[in-house]
Amino acid sequence: MQSAATLLKLVTLVKTKMLTANHLVVAGLTPMTTLDFPDHLACVVFTQGCPLRCGYCHNPQMLPNAPQDASPNWQVIETFLTSRIGLLEAVVFSGGEPTSQPALLPAVIQAHQLGFKVGLHTSGINPSRLESLLPYLSWVGLDIKAEPANYQAVTGRPGVAVKAEQSLSLLQTSKVDYEVRTTLHPKDFDLAAINSLLNWLASKQVKKVALQVARAGQCLSPAYQSISQPFLTSELTAIIQQQAVNFSQLLLRD
Ligand code: SF4
Repeated sequence: MQSAATLLKLVTLVKTKMLTANHLVVAGLTPMTTLDFPDHLACVVFTQGCPLRCGYCHNPQMLPNAPQDASPNWQVIETFLTSRIGLLEAVVFSGGEPTSQPALLPAVIQAHQLGFKVGLHTSGINPSRLESLLPYLSWVGLDIKAEPANYQAVTGRPGVAVKAEQSLSLLQTSKVDYEVRTTLHPKDFDLAAINSLLNWLASKQVKKVALQVARAGQCLSPAYQSISQPFLTSELTAIIQQQAVNFSQLLLRD
């Protein structure tokens, strides 16, 4: 949990302009989407860098922290956002892992001040940063990768489960709307593990869940690039029908 002193220091840095949105390392921009912020016309700003190493990751080019060739900088994003005032409703920060960068806060504040609703896609690995962002956020898509015991196997990093749980708790005590998302790859889940995860999420009082099936090919880990026993849609549909009573939203997303 972020201490009040740390939060004050970060806000002071932002206010004194030592840390500005221009420090945000951007990986790319999707100028318009209806899929990334529920019921809103949005753009998506992808940030560079992620400390996790999920085997199914489809964005391996976004994992290094260093800027990549031909990526736009924040000034390009700022000019774009200014040109879309009144046309787009929301700006979503995605990645990579947006909360890996301290400059996310001034970037989010700037988008908020321009009049956009702000959304965030995050794996929840930086609860202290998430806490500082919450006053400016309208919606969060929180990746819960697995039940705690399986987290390290899915993410390739230790200590992530406790951070993700802290982020979930922060969201649940905030007024920010959120959805939990889980990517399913047969290397990480069988049907029993999916059912068990949904039981665990229900026990945590999560109300909105989206499951998405990982695609083969272009995965970070070669072992994930071919799927010998894919999930059957009928099997996943049966689980969703059985578990739907526990959630206000439980869907299978393409
Ligand atoms: S899938 Fe995992 S490794 Fe890839 S960007 Fe998301 S959190 Fe990071």
